[in-house]
Amino acid sequence: MNDPAIAPQSPLAEVQARIAQAAKIAQRRVDDITLIAVSKTHGADAILPLIHAGQRAFGENRVQEAQAKWPALREEYGDLALHLVGQLQSNKAEDAVALFDCIHSVDRPSLVAALAKAMDKSGRRVPCFVQVNIGAEEQKGGCDIAALPALLAEARSADLPVIGLMCVPPAGIEAAPFFALLDKLARDHGLAGRSMGMSDDFETAIMLGATHIRVGSALFGARG
Ligand SMILES: *Cc1c(COP(=O)(O)O)cnc(C)c1O
Repeated sequence: MNDPAIAPQSPLAEVQARIAQAAKIAQRRVDDITLIAVSKTHGADAILPLIHAGQRAFGENRVQEAQAKWPALREEYGDLALHLVGQLQSNKAEDAVALFDCIHSVDRPSLVAALAKAMDKSGRRVPCFVQVNIGAEEQKGGCDIAALPALLAEARSADLPVIGLMCVPPAGIEAAPFFALLDKLARDHGLAGRSMGMSDDFETAIMLGATHIRVGSALFGARG
């Protein structure tokens, strides 16, 4: 009964093992894949066990919620990396640049301009992903595939540090073709980062080149 070999694994250890297995199959280095623990809606009580287990990258989808939660945790555990994975309003660009270490949701020229201005003003350069509306869905965040070259050109001329592309594929259908398409777009534009894969499909995303996976419910349980 006390055999450690059959002790139940923590959700984090289980996700880490699944990442390692997918990386091994894909002949990729685990170190080339960043696990972002998406802690939106969850409080410090749920986050602390992960920090204590060594998890360092966390994701939030709302600036205000992150502002309420993270400064105190940061104070205590300095070396955390905070990723913004949700849509960002231009009028929150300064707050986002001040708080986050990486922004995954750059999707329009006005936001490129607002972020570039905020970075110039603060002197803080925050790596960004350009989010692509990979399934061409109505009312979904992300820039249209057709608009991607122009948006990347604008980001370049504004000196925004774009490190890759991000997507959230359409719900309820096989994600693999969308991950493959994002990988191709990133390659076409010479970008190394691919932010793709969530609780239900991160192994598939790793097989198809994800460098950043954004995992919430597999680590924290279902959101209320
Ligand atoms: C909530 C969220 C995730 C995590 O989703 P899970 O299915 O809970 O793993 C990933 N990416 C984005 C953009 C999210 O909003």
